[in-house]
Amino acid sequence: MEYRSFGSTNCQVSALGFGCMRLPTLGDDNGKIDEPQAINMIRAAIDQGVNYIDTAWGYHREQSEPLVGKALSDGYREKVHLATKLPSWLIHSQGDMKHYLSVQLERLQTDHIDFYLLHTLNARYWQNYVDLRVFDWAEKEMASGRIRHLGFSFHDEYPVFERILNGYDHWDFCQIQYNYMDVAYQAGERGLRAAAEKGLGVVVMEPLRGGSLASPTPPPPVAKAFSQSQRDWTPVEWALQWLWNQPEVSLVLSGMSNPIQTQQNITSAGRSGVGKLTADDLAVMANVQEAWNGLAPVPCTHCEYCMPCPHGVQIPEVFRIYNTAAIYDNRARGRDDYKNAISDDGKADCCVECGECEALCPQHIEIIQKLKDAHVYLSPEVSG
Ligand code: SF4
Ligand code: SF4
Repeated sequence: MEYRSFGSTNCQVSALGFGCMRLPTLGDDNGKIDEPQAINMIRAAIDQGVNYIDTAWGYHREQSEPLVGKALSDGYREKVHLATKLPSWLIHSQGDMKHYLSVQLERLQTDHIDFYLLHTLNARYWQNYVDLRVFDWAEKEMASGRIRHLGFSFHDEYPVFERILNGYDHWDFCQIQYNYMDVAYQAGERGLRAAAEKGLGVVVMEPLRGGSLASPTPPPPVAKAFSQSQRDWTPVEWALQWLWNQPEVSLVLSGMSNPIQTQQNITSAGRSGVGKLTADDLAVMANVQEAWNGLAPVPCTHCEYCMPCPHGVQIPEVFRIYNTAAIYDNRARGRDDYKNAISDDGKADCCVECGECEALCPQHIEIIQKLKDAHVYLSPEVSG
């Protein structure tokens, strides 16, 4: 196993962290973890040097923390840094914070959490925490030893990330979604660098973009780009090594769901390191990124020069959802995002074809036609 410094803390963490949100289950019920197998997987990973275990209140319908508590009994707790998260959506008072931490310690069978995160921060949850003076509470818990290090996980736009990063002087770490296709999404590469510069450890989640980058048989243009390398790496290995190559990445979390995957990830982590990718490797990765992006039906760069549309159409957001669904061949997910992320008065069918946006688009996109295509693709009631 390779170990890396964790920001300004004195901790050395394994390059690979064990994320306990996709543990093996009995059948399709996410709340029924296959306990013997999950415990074996976690312990086998620890036996091979993984020393960072990540869970959260809500994972596996609240069954992940109790399972991790069991997995870490028999002497395993002392071998790892344990991370869990305060469920931001349930917090209405400092009393709630204290309550959830107490229950988590009980579930995890421990007297302290090494890395405690405010879970899934966005603008709304952040403001709630500020209003509730979360840091007064957290600092008391740190003084009492129930929390060792404080951080946050993040899901919002970059400016919100910067606001949170600069909104407290004593963050120890943060957790962001980052992978070779999400360099400019949410916190992204900018957020990674900004956090590392401030001395935070940075935990990377979704290294495989929720599995989108994991297929051993990617679309032909992507497979062709990978084949330009002499290396016999799988797409998973490429994605992970690309992350570990960067000094600002402290640790990559993988939500492992079977022993084979766990073993492969551990092997990959064992040969990881900062600066291990050659110039040729990086050129291959640039081509792979380009190949994926080439599958997008709309060459929109999200510059927003076309905005605001006088009729309320969320043009770049419609194209982002359309492109993502088409690139990763996940129309069902795209339909969900279109339904939930864009209100009806911002959807593509609100376009009255005035043409104002097309004159402003530096990519010369036929926005009117592409909006129609997107709406058909993303609306079950239109396309069936
Ligand atoms: S053409 Fe459609 S999307 Fe473009 S500005 Fe006019 S109404 Fe908005
Ligand atoms: S101006 Fe063109 S490229 Fe820019 S966000 Fe609008 S559609 Fe996309």
